[in-house]
Amino acid sequence: MLREIMASQHHTPSPLPLSHWERGVWVRERNLRDNLRIPAGAQTSEFLRIVRSTASGASSTTTRRRFVPDLIRLVFMNSRQRRSQVSFRVAVIGGGAAGYFGAIACAEQHENVEVTIFEGTRQPLYKVGISGGGRCNITHHCFEPEVLAKGYPRGSRELLGAFRRFQPRDTVAWFARRGATLKAEEDGRMFPVTDLSATIIDCLQKSAANAGVVVRTGARVVSVRRIDDMARSQIELEFKDGERLRFDRVLLATGSSPQGYKFAEMLGHKIVPCVPSLFTFSIKDPWLTQLSGLSFPAVRLTLLTEGKKRLEQTGPVLVTHWGLSGPAVLKLSAFGARQLFASRYQADLLVNWISDHDVNSLLAEFHAYREQHPKRVVMTGSLLPLPRRFWERIVSLADVDKSVTWSHCTRAAMKQIATELTEGRFRIVGKGEFKDEFVTCGGVDLREVDFRTMESRICPGLFFAGEILDIDGITGGYNFQSAWTTGWIAGRSMGMERMRKFCDSPVQ
Ligand SMILES: Cc1cc2nc3c(=O)[nH]c(=O)nc-3n(C[C@H](O)[C@H](O)[C@H](O)COP(=O)(O)OP(=O)(O)OC[C@H]3O[C@@H](n4cnc5c(N)ncnc54)[C@H](O)[C@@H]3O)c2cc1C
Repeated sequence: MLREIMASQHHTPSPLPLSHWERGVWVRERNLRDNLRIPAGAQTSEFLRIVRSTASGASSTTTRRRFVPDLIRLVFMNSRQRRSQVSFRVAVIGGGAAGYFGAIACAEQHENVEVTIFEGTRQPLYKVGISGGGRCNITHHCFEPEVLAKGYPRGSRELLGAFRRFQPRDTVAWFARRGATLKAEEDGRMFPVTDLSATIIDCLQKSAANAGVVVRTGARVVSVRRIDDMARSQIELEFKDGERLRFDRVLLATGSSPQGYKFAEMLGHKIVPCVPSLFTFSIKDPWLTQLSGLSFPAVRLTLLTEGKKRLEQTGPVLVTHWGLSGPAVLKLSAFGARQLFASRYQADLLVNWISDHDVNSLLAEFHAYREQHPKRVVMTGSLLPLPRRFWERIVSLADVDKSVTWSHCTRAAMKQIATELTEGRFRIVGKGEFKDEFVTCGGVDLREVDFRTMESRICPGLFFAGEILDIDGITGGYNFQSAWTTGWIAGRSMGMERMRKFCDSPVQ
């Protein structure tokens, strides 16, 4: 390969001697392939070490340089030199959002680390591609770690510290630095300005290649085990074709794949049982489902599951032909995921369709309205900003005839209308599907992971990131943010010299 590069140099005014290559050559990234005549398809990282110009002006080399965004330094190393430079080898199992982010962070931060992603399928970053309806809702526009952490029914305490190190503001800057600009929508969801998840996939793949990360697809890991000998401790991966490879550090980023949980268990971890999160509520009530299609901007929902504490959420709700959906329902399903699973998705739901009122405040409004508009017909004269079809249903529930005016509306009828509007009771009989962003809660027990590094407290050298952890967020970009944050921290830590010696802790 060296000959190939050197041979191609005769096109440049002065061919560079090998010693020069070994010291390194600064070139503009965009001219890389032309300058070096690197065959299309070949990965520069296979034979060149790429050292980026850094913001501080000093790359990890002795040469001090001004920061030029696309200036990179190429250092040729023969395989012997390369081996002697690599201080440890890192394997990332899983080529999803968390795996890519972890691998890139590790390779960019630490030169002497060889990072390989092993992806079981032929299509890395598959979920990034289908997420957000093909637009990829990459994060949430919330730059306060304390507020952001509240969007995680499981993992909020652990993520708080992590978000102080890498939060959505950093995600936005990370992608912008690499050419993928993000935008925020009114509800806080953030997408690439192109509205295409391919932009994010492209950005991650290019960043990985530039950082020298090797990606092996179709490389399904089937088992993992820790190997301790006198010299060093490593983790051995076995692949479906029987190949075995040993690594100094391993990042488990297998999402919600059962195999990933099995690997964590093999290395001594406890798995919190997985149950679905983010789903809609099935309610078999013709009164409700006949109103399908109506939406309400601010509904307060209270979930009553037998023997469990009441859970409450307020937000937009949509009536569907099978029950209720919308952001408030999804949020409540996430916070109530475990108790609803335990009750087999049977529970009572109190619905306040106008969340800024309760029965008494609404009754007071009705009385005042009656004073002012005694001749108005109740059925057609609503004082509330509610869909007409819905108001008519509520009024008919209180047995108020079509022609009754406000002055003839009884106290009991008014009270019933107020109660139906603020304390409507429905029976949840099952869980519906929310295909946009399906996540499970459950996974690696968070108590067994050190969130300062994302390293296992049980098996040193093993790291975790993404959905494999018992973390899940509400809808709106929270789940990807947790993958970016945990991946970034794991990546930065994996390349560091040992904080504890491998051999210090016995195999569990
Ligand atoms: C339809 C859909 C839409 C979504 N939309 C959004 C959204 O808009 N915003 C948001 O925040 N979240 C969204 N999510 C959730 C989000 O996709 C996940 O939280 C996120 O992908 C988790 O990233 P991860 O890297 O941990 O796992 P994954 O993305 O699942 O990646 C894990 C990878 O590991 C590989 N793997 C598993 N086992 C092995 C093995 N044994 N060997 C080798 N490789 C293996 C898998 O093939 C996979 O590529 C959506 C989810 C779905 C299903």
